[in-house]
Amino acid sequence: MKRIYLDYASATPIDSRVLDFSRWYLEDMVGNPSSLHSLGLQAKKAMEESREKIAGFINAENESTIIFTGGSTESNNLAIQGCSLRNTGKGKQVAASAIEHISVLNPMKYLQKNGFRFSLIPVDSQGLVDLEQLEDIVTKETLITSIMYANNEIGTIEPIKEISSLVHEKGLYLHVDAVAAGGYVPLDVQKDNIDLLTLSSSALYGPLGAGVLYVKPGIKLQSILPGGGQERGLRSGSENIFALVGMGEAARIAKKERAKETPRFQNIRDSLIDGILKIDDSFLTGHPTLRLPHHASFRFSYIEGESILLSLDMYNIQVATGSACSSRTLEPSHVLLAIGLKHEEAHGSMVLTLGRSNTSKEVPHVITAVTNTVEKLRDLSPLYKKKK
Ligand code: PMP
Repeated sequence: MKRIYLDYASATPIDSRVLDFSRWYLEDMVGNPSSLHSLGLQAKKAMEESREKIAGFINAENESTIIFTGGSTESNNLAIQGCSLRNTGKGKQVAASAIEHISVLNPMKYLQKNGFRFSLIPVDSQGLVDLEQLEDIVTKETLITSIMYANNEIGTIEPIKEISSLVHEKGLYLHVDAVAAGGYVPLDVQKDNIDLLTLSSSALYGPLGAGVLYVKPGIKLQSILPGGGQERGLRSGSENIFALVGMGEAARIAKKERAKETPRFQNIRDSLIDGILKIDDSFLTGHPTLRLPHHASFRFSYIEGESILLSLDMYNIQVATGSACSSRTLEPSHVLLAIGLKHEEAHGSMVLTLGRSNTSKEVPHVITAVTNTVEKLRDLSPLYKKKK
């Protein structure tokens, strides 16, 4: 049985073109970009070229707005802690939507333990941020408001431009986690007036171990990793040149191929949604139209997402139940609870995220496997028997 991988939001393989591009920095002698000899200068040049490509990817003002980090968890921490700790004179509140990734929520909880006020902004049943609540919650005391561009578990795309206007009217800085959206939605930090934006290399088919924080010119952050002062003093430590160079090339390829890939993903996604929603008591989670082109997420009554995942794995189809980062807890996803699902409803979730390997030919097999799996699990479910 050929493998059908439908969990690209959890892990995306490195693109072979990216590997070819940056392989030299892995296999050969590579200088430290802080060194003044020719190899050091070569490494620095490659890093700066990568920075330029990433600035182009998000239409940043210039390449010095791009701060390289070790990944998106680190970028989110630098944005939230770095901005709050540096700007405490201006206020002592931080805010985030209730469906942010835990790498946004946990740094905010950490600040809360250290004297900041932390407010959660609710979302509606389709995952859209409640703009009226945002207007009430965000004040001139709110140092940083964090709203993701699109959600990794339910695929909903937020109206970032509108959110940006509201945040700047009422509060101070807007941070956007664009990890799930990067590569699938055109990003423009200037048009959307975004102050801080997080990207992940691995979500763009780049190497693991690299991330970016875009920092709008003029915004001051405090380093959360003091040391040798690399990356404008914001992220100390010798650079992972292979990963950073690869991330720039991955962003360049993603930007070039997006227009061609988006309709292809949308077609496969929509056929999957049409077929899977034919199953009784199955529901789409997230927004029906304002959703990522490669993202299809569902819930099924009377059964558990983990059993669905394990059963589909036997068909050699890999799916997720939510965020891989939280899958070791037995708690239902905070995202599904935030959109108003009951605990037992939130337990029956399945998330399919498409990637470059997927084709429309796979769709009938996936629909049949999901339909058979749900039927088999319901036959074993005491809850389903009670309903019948
Ligand atoms: N933000 C979002 C939206 C994510 O989905 C993830 C996980 N893929 C992260 C941040 C954190 O990414 P990482 O674990 O690579 O640091």
